[in-house]
Amino acid sequence: MPKKPAASAKHAEHSVKLSLRGATRLLGRHPWVYRSDVVGADDIPPGALVRVQDSRGKFLGTALYSSSSQIAIRMVSHGSVVDLPGLVAERIRAAIVYRKELVSNTDAYRIVFSEADFLPGLIVDRYNDVISLQILTQAMDAAPVREAVLQTLCDELRPAGIVERVEARIRELEQLPPRQSGLLWGEKSSTEYRMNGVGFYYDGLEGQKTGAFLDQRENYAAAVQYAHGEALDAFCYQGGFALHLAAKCSSVTGVDSSRPALEMAEKNATLNGRDLEWIEGNAFDLLREYAAASRRYDTIVLDPPAFAKTKRDLEKALRGYKELNLRAMKMLRTGGILVTCSCSFHVSAADFLKMVADAAQDAHKSLRVVENRGAAKDHPILLNVPETSYLQCLILNVSD
Ligand code: SAH
Repeated sequence: MPKKPAASAKHAEHSVKLSLRGATRLLGRHPWVYRSDVVGADDIPPGALVRVQDSRGKFLGTALYSSSSQIAIRMVSHGSVVDLPGLVAERIRAAIVYRKELVSNTDAYRIVFSEADFLPGLIVDRYNDVISLQILTQAMDAAPVREAVLQTLCDELRPAGIVERVEARIRELEQLPPRQSGLLWGEKSSTEYRMNGVGFYYDGLEGQKTGAFLDQRENYAAAVQYAHGEALDAFCYQGGFALHLAAKCSSVTGVDSSRPALEMAEKNATLNGRDLEWIEGNAFDLLREYAAASRRYDTIVLDPPAFAKTKRDLEKALRGYKELNLRAMKMLRTGGILVTCSCSFHVSAADFLKMVADAAQDAHKSLRVVENRGAAKDHPILLNVPETSYLQCLILNVSD
């Protein structure tokens, strides 16, 4: 008898059983189950859609399987799914609709944020007419899924180009064959975009992340409300904060250790008809030097890279953050504004607040919290999935 076509099947072809701990995690609405909580997954192909059961065989839903990651199971539905490309297309359309309500004053924003949009392992960012995507799991890398992603993005958004940004290390961890970053569709990989009325260049084949730090978009707009006087943007990258601050401040200095980032920052300044000072260097050294020389500012932004890449780095990371914050506080005039950020998932909101409070104590300053913020709304936090909440941004008013 011929096998039934997959589309008419009720459940995914493969199945896995979970330990009690694994099943409890899913019931807590966390989509990940670690390999140690998966029983009998020996013959499941990489990236397969699997039906998930508890230890007694009760159906819990459908997941994406990874044969190499410690996160063996990523749930995609608490019901049954047989057509993954179809589900991916539907979820991308839903993610686009979700942003229509939440995103304004920009043509650059995150369209799909992996687990937070129920699409584990897929990240899609839009920069005006160029779309940039990242594929991080075996299941999302399968040809029919890739095809569905491209087709849906083309149909819904009519971009001039779609680029893929490849993270070689992640492909290695997922045991996927190496791939080059590059244009997947269309002809355009670079463009210009605007957020909060500020223009930026985008080059899909250069830079960090998928190109810019879109998660800071609403924080740029918030910071501008309070910024004034002489401003310093440490860790400025391509000038995200600095160019926003230029609308309100009498002078803005951006500091970054990356020359290519500063070259792009200068191009962005020209695009906006602004004249900013860019300094290539180590922000730790520069802050130390400036503090020793009694330099004063009215607005300082601290947006360093993630210091805590793992839980083990936490203590060291907090010391690094504290040193930066302490120096910045000392350099701020009374009434000055400190915008301080952490993008380390392992540094919790409470840890971060405590670190800033400790720094204030050591700096002999009184700080008022003007705003306590996170990532922009196009990077949703999914409750019960702490990994989707990683960005802290405090805006503080500093007094002697
Ligand atoms: N605020 C930026 C994003 C900053 S990302 C924005 O909104 O776009 C962190 C930046 O810190 C990167 O550009 C990186 O090049 C830079 N960086 C890393 N270590 C540094 C150091 N020790 N001194 C100065 N810059 C550093």
